[in-house]
Amino acid sequence: MAQEKESITGYSESRYQELVELDKKHFLHPTSSIKQQQEKGPALIFTEGKGIYVKDIKGKSYLDGFSSLWNVNVGYGRTELGQAAMDQMEKLAFSSCFSTFSHEPAILLSAKIAELAPESLNTVFFTSGGSESNDTAFKLVRYYWMLKGQPEKKKIISRRRSYHGVAMGSTSATGLAAFRTFTNSPLPDFFQVDNFSIEALLELIETEGPDTIAAFISEPIQGTGGVILPPDNYFTQVREICDKHNILFIADEVITGFGRTGKNFGIEHFGVTPDIICFAKGVTSAYIPLGGLIISEQIHSDLKELSNGIFFHGYTYSGHPTSCAVGLKNLEIIEQENLVENARMMGEELLRGFQWLQKEHAIVGEVRGIGLMGAIELYKDKTTNERFESPIAPGLAAELLNNGLICRGVTYEGSDMLAFAPPLVINQEEIAKIIEIIDKVL
Ligand code: PLP
Repeated sequence: MAQEKESITGYSESRYQELVELDKKHFLHPTSSIKQQQEKGPALIFTEGKGIYVKDIKGKSYLDGFSSLWNVNVGYGRTELGQAAMDQMEKLAFSSCFSTFSHEPAILLSAKIAELAPESLNTVFFTSGGSESNDTAFKLVRYYWMLKGQPEKKKIISRRRSYHGVAMGSTSATGLAAFRTFTNSPLPDFFQVDNFSIEALLELIETEGPDTIAAFISEPIQGTGGVILPPDNYFTQVREICDKHNILFIADEVITGFGRTGKNFGIEHFGVTPDIICFAKGVTSAYIPLGGLIISEQIHSDLKELSNGIFFHGYTYSGHPTSCAVGLKNLEIIEQENLVENARMMGEELLRGFQWLQKEHAIVGEVRGIGLMGAIELYKDKTTNERFESPIAPGLAAELLNNGLICRGVTYEGSDMLAFAPPLVINQEEIAKIIEIIDKVL
C-alpha cells in the first residue's frame, strides 16, 4: 500500500480530514457562521507561528496583518513567554486572590500597569478578558455611586458602532447592531448615542437626567467598528461633560492598551484622563488570557473610605498567577524592544503605504490609521462615495488570504473596508510586503 504523503508540517491528508470532521461535530466556534462551518469545515487550521507569520496545517504561510484578534502584539513564538509560564506553573500554578490572599505576580503586575497608566490611575482589578473587564466596570461604577448615596445613578451610555464584548453587560453596551440584536435580551439602563455627536450625548443626559447616569464608556479608537478615529476635541468635550454631570468616564482600551496606537494607552492621544481604563488582549500579547481595569485614585480612595462589607465581585481567575507572570514578561519585552515607539513609526509607514494604494487604485477611498491600527475604505466611485451594491471587503479579504495575508473585511452598518492591525514587532520590509500583496490583489 502506498505510503500516505505528509505535508511539510507533518500532518497527513487523512489526519487533516479527521480534524475537519471532529471540528464540525464537536466545536461550536465563537463569532462564526455555523452554516459555513458545517458546509465547508473550518476555514483554516493553524499549527504554528513565528514573528508575524503563521502557518496552517497544509504548510502554507500567512503574514498575520491582524495579530490574530488585534492581540498577538509581540508576535508569535516568543519562548520567553512560554518560559515565564512554565517557571510560574512549577513554582505556584494557581492561587486565588479572594479574601485578600495574594501572590507576587499579581502584586508586581498591578504595580507595573499602574506605572504605565496615566498618572492618576493606580489600582488594578484583574479579569480573564475584555468582556469581563467591561462588565466589572459597569458593576463597579454602580457600586461606587451606591456607596456615595446615589443608587439611582446606574445608567451606562456608550456609542453606536462601538464594541465592548459579549457578556450580558458588555453586549448591552455594544453599539454594533449585529451583536445587540443577536439575542433579544440587552439589559435595561444601557443607552447608545450617535457616534461622536456631542449634541446627542447632551440631549440624552438631559432626557434621562444626569442623576441617573453612572458612566460613559468609549473606545479611544473604535476597533471592531472599523478603526474609527474621533474628531479633534471630541474627548476633551466628553471629559468636560462627564465632569460637569458627575458621570464617570470609562476608556475601553482592550485593543488600544499597551502600545498598539504608538502610546501606552490610546486615550493619551487626546489629552484627557479617564476615571477607569479597561484592558485585556495586549497585556499578555494573547499568550494567555488576562484582562482587567485600572481605577483612578479618586475612585479608589472613595472605595477605601466608604466600603465596609465585602466587594462581592471576583472571578476565580482574577489575578491568575501564571497569567500575571506572562503579563509581566510581555510588558518587559514591549519595553526592552521599544515596541510602543516601533508601533508609532511602523504605523506611519503603513499609512504611507495606504496613501500610495489610494493613488494607485480607483476603489480605495479614505485611508486612515494610528499606530498599528489602520483601515482602507472601498468604493465603487470614490469621488461620490458610492458603495458597491454588495460589500466587496469579504471577497477581497478572502483573496488576500489566498495570497498569504490575513486582514479583516468590515461590513458592519453599511461599511465596506479592510482593517489591519499587525504585530507591534513588524518591520519596514514586512510593511512593504503587506502593501505589495494588497496592491497585487486590488
Ligand atoms: N472591548 C473591546 C474594545 C474589544 O475590541 C473587545 C474584543 O475585541 C472586547 C472589549 C471584548 O474582549 P474579549 O473578547 O476579551 O471578551
